[in-house]
Amino acid sequence: MFQSIFSMLDNVVSTMQTLLYVDVVQPFLFKVGWMDYDEDTFDALYWVIVGVLEVLVMYVILRLLEALRPAEKWQDRKGVRVDALYTWIVKLGILNLFFFLTFQPLFDSFQGWLRLHDIANIELDNLWPGVTSQPIVAFLIYLVVLDFVGYWYHRMEHKIGIWWKLHAVHHSQQKMSLWSDDRNHLLDDVIQAVVFATVALVIGVPPSQFVVLVAVTNLMQSVQHANIRVHFGWLGERLLVSPAFHRRHHAILHTGATSACCCRSGT
Ligand SMILES: [Zn+2]
Ligand SMILES: [Zn+2]
Repeated sequence: MFQSIFSMLDNVVSTMQTLLYVDVVQPFLFKVGWMDYDEDTFDALYWVIVGVLEVLVMYVILRLLEALRPAEKWQDRKGVRVDALYTWIVKLGILNLFFFLTFQPLFDSFQGWLRLHDIANIELDNLWPGVTSQPIVAFLIYLVVLDFVGYWYHRMEHKIGIWWKLHAVHHSQQKMSLWSDDRNHLLDDVIQAVVFATVALVIGVPPSQFVVLVAVTNLMQSVQHANIRVHFGWLGERLLVSPAFHRRHHAILHTGATSACCCRSGT
């Protein structure tokens, strides 16, 4: 069932990818003489479509909640627009294109090196055959591992001076909204993308699950930043970063440690 939801989503995105590529992107590449980037652009397009769908889902759900149950009432949403712009720049694939065109060849050779040295065979899903090999269990394990990595990545952003200077861009926003998660220094975004992709590669996350993991993580982080008054309940508040919890984190405007445990990797 879980696997069939994955393949159904993958089919929808792949169909859109092919249509968009054949009708729009390929004729454009041909016209401007960039057919050398043909294959990489096709791969990157998949992530662009996922990014756009993600923004649409996020906007429909969270914007409605922000209107109905705001945590803070603002006179206007002026300062928020720049974060929306950041989000579109990131999600529309500038980062993806950069990643695919520059890091993909490096990643391919890194993957070959891992295989050669038997490191790529950590395969967390085989820890307990029959249990952890169930797609839903494997997915949850990957989610926790990547969340843990995200948590430490975030702690280092606050601890290491130069890194904090990049992360300070994220914390400089006074009006936290559904768009604020993507308000980051582009260099920080690139470093984070490389770290996450490397860890995913080492623990053996299948590419189809990696796309969904990134989408789910992004969506959870957008919820954390949304201007909504919501309580996740006794257990939920302990397992996930709620908007109220993350609001408190954003009040820390210096290089201090963040108080959060695993499964709480908000940025
Ligand atoms: Zn944040
Ligand atoms: Zn932070």
